[in-house]
Amino acid sequence: MEFLLHEFTSFLKKEQILDDPVDLKLYETDATSLFPKQPKLVLLPDTVKEIQKIIKAIIRYNSSNPPHKVSFVARGAGTGLSGGALASDYSIIISLARFTKVIKVDYENNVVLVETGVVNATLNKVVKDSNLHFAPDPSSQQACTIGGNVAENAGGVHCFKYGVTSEHVLGIEMLSPNGELRYFGDLDSDLNYNLSSSDLNITALVVGSEGTFGIVTKALLRLTPLQDSFLTIQAAFADTQACANLVSDLIKQGFKPAAIETVDNNAVKAINKAYNLGFSDDVKAVILIEIDGVLEEVIENGLKIKDTVNKYNPLQYEETQDSERRLKLWKVRKGAAAAFGKIAPFWYLYDLVVPRSKIPDALKGLEEIADKYNLLLANILHAGDGNIHPNFLYDPYKDQTVVDRIHKASHEIMELCVRLGGTLSGEHGIGVEKQEYMGHLFSDTDMNKMLMLREVFDPNYISNPNKIFPIRICRECHREIELEELKT
Ligand SMILES: Cc1cc2nc3c(=O)[nH]c(=O)nc-3n(C[C@H](O)[C@H](O)[C@H](O)COP(=O)(O)OP(=O)(O)OC[C@H]3O[C@@H](n4cnc5c(N)ncnc54)[C@H](O)[C@@H]3O)c2cc1C
Repeated sequence: MEFLLHEFTSFLKKEQILDDPVDLKLYETDATSLFPKQPKLVLLPDTVKEIQKIIKAIIRYNSSNPPHKVSFVARGAGTGLSGGALASDYSIIISLARFTKVIKVDYENNVVLVETGVVNATLNKVVKDSNLHFAPDPSSQQACTIGGNVAENAGGVHCFKYGVTSEHVLGIEMLSPNGELRYFGDLDSDLNYNLSSSDLNITALVVGSEGTFGIVTKALLRLTPLQDSFLTIQAAFADTQACANLVSDLIKQGFKPAAIETVDNNAVKAINKAYNLGFSDDVKAVILIEIDGVLEEVIENGLKIKDTVNKYNPLQYEETQDSERRLKLWKVRKGAAAAFGKIAPFWYLYDLVVPRSKIPDALKGLEEIADKYNLLLANILHAGDGNIHPNFLYDPYKDQTVVDRIHKASHEIMELCVRLGGTLSGEHGIGVEKQEYMGHLFSDTDMNKMLMLREVFDPNYISNPNKIFPIRICRECHREIELEELKT
């Protein structure tokens, strides 16, 4: 890397290059701490040209130093939960932290062009006064970036109705791993857009590719009008089963609320400890249902939903159309992750999806696995999507074997999920966290086809290598193993 470092200093300022171990420590994990890996170098470019120069320098270095293969990893805010933004042994982290411009808001066509380091909530603040929003709203939206949302195909609490990120990205500018700037979808190289382009939908392929196809530097996004009215309903139950059955019932009846979210027993305990939200001790599950639209429709659906909720004998029920009270009701869901800190200093969150009808079975299975490995489990759910986030709350300083037990439990959780007809990730991606579980769901033939697609964009595997695919199948991992062997 010494030679490369020298080359980077010829076009980057000192403060754009981090190689001090103390600085690098900050980039050792994303929001999950189970797979730490300290990078050797982090670069903070200011312009697309600078990223391009970095990639071209890496390509030059690789071609003159075979078999070495330096690679790069794009990093947004590092809030990812699958280890996607971590470096591997020979990769350089390229941070998009300085790409924070909202370039153009087109209020006539409800689209916005942004640099991809823009924080999701910042974009929403910019367009809110015009009654618009970027609909995907991950719970991390105060910190996570549009680039991270695009790479992970992020979801959020209102995506049940509005759809995940892929449904809101119209075009992208991407720096390919060969150093060339490419434009896909509705965006062209003059940053003009043609909102009716009908070519092969390559944008949709890039969304969710976890940074393995290149670095997305600009995104043309769809903005959605904010609805006139909303109604937020919160109901608390004595058992999680009632909550799960209520979700199935609402969906069977054809309701399409903007959000259906639930939290279970241990999550309620954490929330009771952290905030004074007034849940009694016998509350074992809470549901939040939000409907929006024109006022008459909201009122009419609200009455019907209330009737359905009441069939399941809630211990507590509240509904509101008041904006401030709405935020308070949402605290039970949006504040859950922070509340876990009141129970234990560490938190490991999974992301799995099962068919909605299997949510009760999944919750039962998760409880059995947690009991088997003596782990403290709290579940939060994007219930409308069948997307479950089981959380293990733990303290590795008090319990030295807990991390090992969590890894063992992970294996069984993935098996449970696949057995129930589910899939490995709803919104957090595969990254390093789940790469070894891909084989539970996909055959080698399928994975090789995915790799062939990846090779179209990145034939040399230099863009975020060693992610997504299991080590035994992933060609770039083998290269790193070979390099390790060369050293010994
Ligand atoms: C408390 C909490 C709540 C969360 N809630 C949700 C939720 O509700 N829904 C949800 O979907 N996720 C959620 N997440 C996960 C995370 O916030 C999302 O995955 C988010 O999209 C990551 O964005 P980031 O900017 O932090 O990306 P990073 O973590 O920096 O990177 C994530 C991946 O994106 C790639 N990447 C980043 N920028 C680019 C780019 N410009 N070009 C190409 N690749 C890039 C990285 O290489 C990496 O593979 C949550 C996380 C936390 C900590």
